Amino acid sequence: MPTRILLVEDEQSIVEVLRYNLEREGFEVQSCGDGREALRLAQLHTPDLIVLDLMLPNLDGLEVCRILRADAATARIPILMLTARSEEADQIVGLAVGADDYVTKPFSVKVVVQRIRALLRRAASEEVGQVLSAHGIRLDRRTHRVSVHDQPVHLTLTEFRFLEAFLRQPGRAFRRDELLEAAGTDADLVLERTVDVHIKSLRRKLGPAGEFIETVRGVGYRLREPGTAPEPAEAAAVSSPRRREKS
Ligand code: CA
Repeated sequence: MPTRILLVEDEQSIVEVLRYNLEREGFEVQSCGDGREALRLAQLHTPDLIVLDLMLPNLDGLEVCRILRADAATARIPILMLTARSEEADQIVGLAVGADDYVTKPFSVKVVVQRIRALLRRAASEEVGQVLSAHGIRLDRRTHRVSVHDQPVHLTLTEFRFLEAFLRQPGRAFRRDELLEAAGTDADLVLERTVDVHIKSLRRKLGPAGEFIETVRGVGYRLREPGTAPEPAEAAAVSSPRRREKS
């Protein structure tokens, strides 16, 4: 599928030169010259990137930017702002309301294309960063969905955050207070023992993949690093302390 760019610009000569060059670069270009129409098109088609002129009829670029950023459906679309003004203040405002980058007119088309490519690369790598996976466990931070071998798993928010911490750093041993911190809970207010309860539930929900969450004796828990075997001592530690507590 070609990368789709929404070009919002009311100066026809700029639209023409950008459209020609962007299409030549293999992008699919949709254009409009009005702020309200830009919002409508962005919400309808969620383009991969928006080139947004600052001064527009009806609704200016800053306002368009602000509204797009406030809407979850369009908040993550990269925005390259075009500005005719060279005052730095406007550009800073543009970036503050959520434009990812800006180019000042008059610009070289080559620079615009370079900036677009850079923003798309960044967006793609951020997208990748939204999904964490190991051992067949897949966690999508954006949709808050978790699956094990494509089977959905329903976690509580605390379990989700524990798992996210594990998946970010496989092999790292987390202390109980670190896990609580990762879950956004104040360790002082919660008994660290409750961590064990959450871990037990998380392991159960993950099914056989739950075995990859290992108990680290005297420390806490970790996700086994993919490609490594459980250490015999650690494997024993998974069950023994628990039994001892009960006796
Ligand atoms: Ca304009």
